[in-house]
Amino acid sequence: MASRRDFLQQGARLCALGVIGAPALASAQELQPPPDLFDAQLLDLDFWVKPRTISLVRPQSGERARVLYWKDGEVIDSAYQELCHILRDVNGRATAPIDPKLFEVLWGTQAFIARYGMTQPLEILSGYRTEASNRRLVEEGVPAARKSLHMVGKAADIRIASLNEEVLGGLIRSFRQGGVGYYYRSGPKGGWIHADTGLNRTWKG
Ligand SMILES: [Zn+2]
Repeated sequence: MASRRDFLQQGARLCALGVIGAPALASAQELQPPPDLFDAQLLDLDFWVKPRTISLVRPQSGERARVLYWKDGEVIDSAYQELCHILRDVNGRATAPIDPKLFEVLWGTQAFIARYGMTQPLEILSGYRTEASNRRLVEEGVPAARKSLHMVGKAADIRIASLNEEVLGGLIRSFRQGGVGYYYRSGPKGGWIHADTGLNRTWKG
C-alpha cells in the first residue's frame, strides 16, 4: 500500500500547511483531516510490525508512563505488567490483567495520530474497576453500566488533549476491535471516550 502511505503523508503535509483540516472557527490545535484518513483498516503492515511504545497519563493519580510493551511480535511481560498497573482501579486499589487487545487499540490510536504530529499522551480516566468501584459509580449517577467491561479488564475511558470526540471516537471505531461509547460533555471538565474489546457497537452516553 505504498500509494496509501504517500497519500497519508501528503495529507499530513497539507494539514500542516493549513490547506485542509480544521474549520475556520475551530481552535488551531484541533486537527481535522478528512474522515477517510481515519480508517485504521487501511493501515499497512509496516504500522503493525514496528515496536510499540505507548505513552499514558493517569490524571487521577498523577502518574505518567512511556512504555515499550511490544516488540518482534510479542508482548514484553514486564512492560505489560506496568501498563496493567497504570490501568488499575485507583479507587479500589486493585490491579487486574488487561486484555492485550485493548492495549493494541490504545497504542494504535496513539501511533496513528502521531503521524499527524500529535504526540500528546493518552489520558486514562478509568481502566479496570472492581465490582464495588463500579457499583459506587452507578450509585453516584456517573454513567457506568452495571455489567461493565471495566470489571473484566476489557475497557478504558480515555481522552487525548486537543483531539475532539468525533475524531477520537471515529478513529477507535475504525479499528473494529469492540465497543465505542461517546461520553463527551461540554464544559471545562469535558468527557471521555469509552473503548472496550467487547462487541462492535457504538453509543452516546
Ligand atoms: Zn467506560
